[in-house]
Amino acid sequence: MISENLTNVLSKLKRTAIEVSRLPESIRLVAVSKTKPNEDILMAYNAGQRYFGENYVQELVKKSKELPKDIKWHYIGSIQSGKVKDLCLIENLSLVETIDSIKIADAFQKRLTLLERKEKLNVLVQVNTSAEDNKSGVEPDNCVELVEHVFNNCPLLSFKGLMTIGKFGEEGKKYFKKLSEVKLKVIEKVKCEEFELSMGMSNDFEDAIREGSTNIRVGSTIFGVREREEKK
Ligand SMILES: *Cc1c(COP(=O)(O)O)cnc(C)c1O
Repeated sequence: MISENLTNVLSKLKRTAIEVSRLPESIRLVAVSKTKPNEDILMAYNAGQRYFGENYVQELVKKSKELPKDIKWHYIGSIQSGKVKDLCLIENLSLVETIDSIKIADAFQKRLTLLERKEKLNVLVQVNTSAEDNKSGVEPDNCVELVEHVFNNCPLLSFKGLMTIGKFGEEGKKYFKKLSEVKLKVIEKVKCEEFELSMGMSNDFEDAIREGSTNIRVGSTIFGVREREEKK
């Protein structure tokens, strides 16, 4: 089941990319495995999937110890300063998608300095495109300031682009467009060779690809519905 679901998502990814004249290889599928057991993750792993996303720090710490080391973990949950240390200790943490304040960026910089980490940590800045109080992310108007802060003051963080959750439904496209607009503002100010846009989930990843997503985060379509839902 899981491997079939994965194949289906990948073929939709490919079809949609081709439809809008994009290279399918320029879009990464992150399998969001939060709340799911290791056996499920291994099924996807054995089918060739290597990028996995988690949004609870403790769960990610545990899974990263138990599962193969060539998994590339993406952290996609909200971050409290007190949890930054645990995240920094995960060797195969590939991308932190949810930097949303100067305070959190500084907490990572400080912790990585203490750990004497040589490699930079890849990060995205999360933007609250839909201006909802219950969604985390920096306000679009404050995004450039945060990105500049990361560039100027956090040498151990490597800024890779922007992430958003947006909203389900027809209206959702508007928020993907919004993220692309924020990207334009950012690249006026900072020089980036590559620029990721992380947007699109189970229900809207095809729209997100049409709007330029380079990183889709798909959970329930691959692993089935989750019994335990997000806290918040
Ligand atoms: C849970 C989650 C997803 C995946 O959601 P699905 O609808 O199950 O595909 C994607 N992004 C974030 C930030 C999430 O928390």
